[in-house]
Amino acid sequence: MAEMELLETSDGSTPISIEILPPNRGLGLDGIHGFFQGLGDWKPAFVSVTYHQAHKIDVIEAEGPDTQIWNRKKPGTLGVCAMLKFQYGLKVIPHLICGGFSRFESEDFLVDLDYLGMENVLVLRGDPKKGDGEFKPHSGGNQYASELVAQISSLNKGNYLEEVKEAKPTNFKIGVAGYPEMHREAVDFKVDILNLKHKVDEGASFIITQMFFENKYFFEFVKKCREVGITVPIIPGLKVLTSKRQLEVLPDLFHTKMPASLIEEVNACENREQVIEVGVKHALEQARGLVEFGVPCLHFFTMNDLTTFSKVLDGLRS
Ligand code: FAD
Repeated sequence: MAEMELLETSDGSTPISIEILPPNRGLGLDGIHGFFQGLGDWKPAFVSVTYHQAHKIDVIEAEGPDTQIWNRKKPGTLGVCAMLKFQYGLKVIPHLICGGFSRFESEDFLVDLDYLGMENVLVLRGDPKKGDGEFKPHSGGNQYASELVAQISSLNKGNYLEEVKEAKPTNFKIGVAGYPEMHREAVDFKVDILNLKHKVDEGASFIITQMFFENKYFFEFVKKCREVGITVPIIPGLKVLTSKRQLEVLPDLFHTKMPASLIEEVNACENREQVIEVGVKHALEQARGLVEFGVPCLHFFTMNDLTTFSKVLDGLRS
């Protein structure tokens, strides 16, 4: 664990990290600046920044045939990371996905990260594209996250895709995703954990989990990981419930279960503010249980929502 310097705190308290999303195309960085300025003097252990695959959109031409182009709704992962690193002095972890990238394009992206001094990456396969039933790798691209991890480990040894004389090895520390309630496509839990172990064996040195709303799933998951010999830090991912709709949307999107007590409390709420209050209370209970368990860090999927995250932070610091 000591090898992951991101997780060191001066006072020995459990570090807190956050995930943010790049803004939608055209919205600029005001929202991101507002978020970080709103945090005042508090600095997260690290900020991970999501990557969003392009989707096909129709371009209707006034004259000539209509065409389809690939467009990314949220570009700017690299730009946001660079801005946070150089302007705010934060430790950043860009997400890197297999979907939409050939292996050469992944290498290009990694070269940019290397030149910018960004040594931590979170490597993901990416979800299937909208409309695709299953994940399809880009032609010449990686099919599984483990393959991209292996590609990066190879770069760390100075092996680029085409032979480079006197190549300079990179020094990436690689994080990968883990699923306390199993990845939705996995044949079974055991196989999913073994696939996770494969990512670690290929060179991953930390794991960040998918969100979960009952700590027992995380505790059981960590036990299963340790049993198969996964020894790297496992960082729990937490999301604060902020609307009644999320009671149905989140289990569907993220293959997670909501505890009956949380569903009941949220359904009894009369407005959004009350739901957020319940969501924050629940997240704080989860966080305290996880700290007691001895997690190396608490990672919050903030959805760039400063108001809600500030309530969590206040709760954790009081
Ligand atoms: P993999 O590890 O490749 O696993 C995918 C599935 O394949 C699993 O079911 C696994 O068991 C199975 N599998 C693995 N290896 C093999 C093999 N060799 N043979 C057969 N089956 C195998 N998505 C984004 O698009 N952008 C993001 O920024 C993003 N950030 C995320 C952050 C976190 C913390 C988490 C938990 C998820 C994030 N995701 C993101 C979602 C992620 O891309 C999806 O969950 C995706 O469906 C799986 O990604 P993975 O890296 O876990 O895939």
